Amino acid sequence: MNLYAIIGHPVAHSLSPLMHNTAFELLGLQCRYEAIDSEPEDLRETVATLREKGYSGFNITLPHKEAIRSHLDEVDKDAQIIGAVNTVVRRDNKLVGINTDTRGFLRSLEPFRTRITGSRVLLLGAGGAARAVLCALLQHHQPARVVILNRSLERAEQLALDFGNLQPLVPLSAESLFDDNLQGTVAQAEVVINTTPVGMIPYTHSSPLEETKFSKNQLCMDLIYVPLETKLLKRAQEAGATTVGGLDMFMHQGAESFRLWTGQDLPEEPVRETILQKLKEQ
Ligand code: NAP
Repeated sequence: MNLYAIIGHPVAHSLSPLMHNTAFELLGLQCRYEAIDSEPEDLRETVATLREKGYSGFNITLPHKEAIRSHLDEVDKDAQIIGAVNTVVRRDNKLVGINTDTRGFLRSLEPFRTRITGSRVLLLGAGGAARAVLCALLQHHQPARVVILNRSLERAEQLALDFGNLQPLVPLSAESLFDDNLQGTVAQAEVVINTTPVGMIPYTHSSPLEETKFSKNQLCMDLIYVPLETKLLKRAQEAGATTVGGLDMFMHQGAESFRLWTGQDLPEEPVRETILQKLKEQ
């Protein structure tokens, strides 16, 4: 039996166990995937336990995507550039960190590629997911500029500094979520991408942009996939904006992790159906 897991805090909302266990069953693989809740101060010990018990791989979710790097034997080149890991593979008994969020994000936004090129992008959040999204935007799209809006201004400034040389033609700037001119900042963006967990179950009544208004020419993406439609997306849709939820990205990043672990393609259609069914029940 090959063992896999997702480590996060909180992690109960995660549908990764359902995704991977459904795929293992459909393909007849002797594998099991579980959710492990680990507080930041316990991360080292959690990884040591999985290493000792011979886990073949695991995912990392909030808030550990950056901190996990120091507990691994290697981090691949792309994940080093991003500065965050969401997938760990055991190779030659070494734990290797990889980032599949970038690929998941790129595939899910492929239908909207032309809307991002030359656009002003507002990125909400500056954590692990924001790093993968920003890297993907800078390396594979050509936005006119990116404004990083975060609760902690310092972290947003650090992210802008870390990625400043990745695509020198695209100006990066950092702003606080508590800025007085929040509405002005949102109004100037053609693309808004939420990478914060605000609005995720159980806080579905919340939005990272509570008071601000959207317009019909905007594209608004939320990485959250539980619920399928967050309060942020509802508000954007009511204003006529184009909206994209996080489910496609979730499916694509998971399929990539699955391929790295098993060498097989995740049966995307039936797995997606199972996940949608589960989401409808919630
Ligand atoms: P993370 O590393 O912990 O970063 C969280 C970010 O959100 C930080 O910028 C943090 O701001 C901000 N934040 C947290 N709580 C906040 C609050 N109450 N108000 C305002 N800002 C807040 O987490 P992550 O790994 O980037 O994940 C973030 C979200 O993306 C999660 O909901 C996760 O499920 C989702 N995600 C989805 C996919 C997908 O495939 N669809 C993939 C990756 C992530 P500070 O810096 O001020 O703390």
